[in-house]
Amino acid sequence: MPNGLQSAVTDLATLLPVLIALSLFVTVCIVAFLLVRVRQSGYAEKAIESVGSGYWVLTANADFIDVNAAYCRMVGYTRAQILSMRIADFEAVATQDRIRKQIQRIIQKGPEQFETRHRKSNGEWVELEVTVTAVRKSQVIVYLRDISERKKAAHAINQLALYDPLTALPNRRLLHDRIEQALLQASRSEHHGAVLFIDLDHFKKLNDTLGHATGDNLLRQVGQRLVACVREGDTVARFGGDEFVVLLARLNSNATEAAAEVRAVGLKILASLAHTFRLDNLEHNTTASIGVSLFSSHVVSLEDVLKQADLAMYKSKAAGRNGLHFFDPAMQVAIEARTSLEADLRVALREQQFVLHYQPQANAGNTITGAEALVRWQHPVYGLVQPNDFIGLAEESGLIVPLGQWVLETACRQLVQWAGRPQTAQLVVAVNVSAKQLQQPDFVEQVLATLQRTGADPRKLQLELTESVLVSSIEDTIVKMNALKLRGVSFSLDDFGTGYSSLGYLSRLPIEQLKIDRSFVSQIELSDNAVSICVAVIGLARSLRLAVVAEGVETAAQLYLLTTVHHCEFVQGYLIGRPMPSLAFDALFE
Ligand code: C2E
Ligand code: CA
Ligand code: CA
Repeated sequence: MPNGLQSAVTDLATLLPVLIALSLFVTVCIVAFLLVRVRQSGYAEKAIESVGSGYWVLTANADFIDVNAAYCRMVGYTRAQILSMRIADFEAVATQDRIRKQIQRIIQKGPEQFETRHRKSNGEWVELEVTVTAVRKSQVIVYLRDISERKKAAHAINQLALYDPLTALPNRRLLHDRIEQALLQASRSEHHGAVLFIDLDHFKKLNDTLGHATGDNLLRQVGQRLVACVREGDTVARFGGDEFVVLLARLNSNATEAAAEVRAVGLKILASLAHTFRLDNLEHNTTASIGVSLFSSHVVSLEDVLKQADLAMYKSKAAGRNGLHFFDPAMQVAIEARTSLEADLRVALREQQFVLHYQPQANAGNTITGAEALVRWQHPVYGLVQPNDFIGLAEESGLIVPLGQWVLETACRQLVQWAGRPQTAQLVVAVNVSAKQLQQPDFVEQVLATLQRTGADPRKLQLELTESVLVSSIEDTIVKMNALKLRGVSFSLDDFGTGYSSLGYLSRLPIEQLKIDRSFVSQIELSDNAVSICVAVIGLARSLRLAVVAEGVETAAQLYLLTTVHHCEFVQGYLIGRPMPSLAFDALFE
């Protein structure tokens, strides 16, 4: 906004309260004048009628005695209709009882003025300023002025003062407010927040060659696309010229995770802006440079946050534009490592660098009854990478869906191979399934198709879910689980005891088995608390007719306590066997 206009608008905004106060004063004067007339002469009603505002005469008990034509017009009822109604029938907020109390107060203590809304006969609302004055001990006069226009004007002025007229986005002033709020919020909570400074590349060239109208058109469309890239509750502001600022609130409490979230939004923005713009009859391509400043409870100032984001944006420009940089160099390194890991993961999927290891599960009699399939990544440079180092990223990037499908398929082929040998024909394979996989609309079909394709026996397939899959759409999850259960597939609830563990849903889930989390098993010799939890889970499973597996059994003492003392039926852990390649697992049955 040009400076002149901006200051005019600012002036207007500061003037507004003065204008309102002035108009209130005038209203009160008119009412006072009329009331004096009411007392003095019989022509009072005509006088009030002529003002064009609404008025009522009420009993001290808040019943209508009279109402004028102006009020009838305001709400769209006839006088006769209104006289048979109660005030509360119009009121947006007050009840009849509260209105009575207010009238008593006015009779005792003098006039009151307030704003409210009344419902019209067509269901719409009219905004009113109401002045109530007692005439005698038994009557009050209510003066009602339609202030809808004034409200609209106030709203428009507010818009002008806080929003950019070209894009209708928050302007710099409102942005500053919102950043201050976000900083305050971050100082009180664990959450991170971030400011993204977005500058269009080579915008000046477009503006100079095709004119300001075309430039404006582009800015408007850029604003719309930015808004579409963020969540509700985030702010997209026009900072000035071709600069936009996005404020993201309530990001992860872990800095690297938060940075990854910001990066995801930043990339979404770059991708969105990369689509061709239509500017009247012209097709135009543009890019943007983004700088990010991440903030947390170690609060910096508003100025610092903006300066940091601005500096980072210049790094993006210097690095060849159309990119995103963080202010914090360490953050940049962490993000780059993550980015390259994600790229590597894609290659790994394509080039089949994953392998499945199998960890034996045994019953209390020490007979191996099955195995949990655990994925590993045979990385060409880093060697064998453990799942904790890449499953999280695979989940975030969505790559867990194709990866999970590969795991399922490989495990099913393993089942078919085991089925061919009498010693291994009874083995069950347990496959871990992430929430993202289960949320796929075609999850059930995918699993069934895989079973069909490989020829594996569904009754030998067990899917391990964690409670995290239940947090969203439990109904949908139950439907999917039931559909698979019908075909013989079974379910185990993994890491039990660490999540929500609500008994309410537990009894509704079609599961066959609970897995006691390793953290309790590892403490069972040392902590009474851990013993209580293991005993409670075993008891709970028994009452729900579920099997129990204790995972992470490493010592003979743990095995003894779990199986002999507390009657846990199944165990899994390094004591029985580590996760191992398929060949090594098969060798256990020689
Ligand atoms: P999880 O499902 O709880 O798997 C058990 C983990 O505990 C495995 O780690 C296993 O090697 C380890 N473990 C088993 N027994 C012992 C023991 O006695 N002591 C100790 N210290 N650890 C033991 P791993 O293979 O590193 O897997 C880690 C997690 O990665 C898994 O936890 C699972 O959440 C995830 N994961 C592994 N494979 C897959 C997969 O194919 N798909 C999905 N979605 N997640 C997987
Ligand atoms: Ca598991
Ligand atoms: Ca587990």
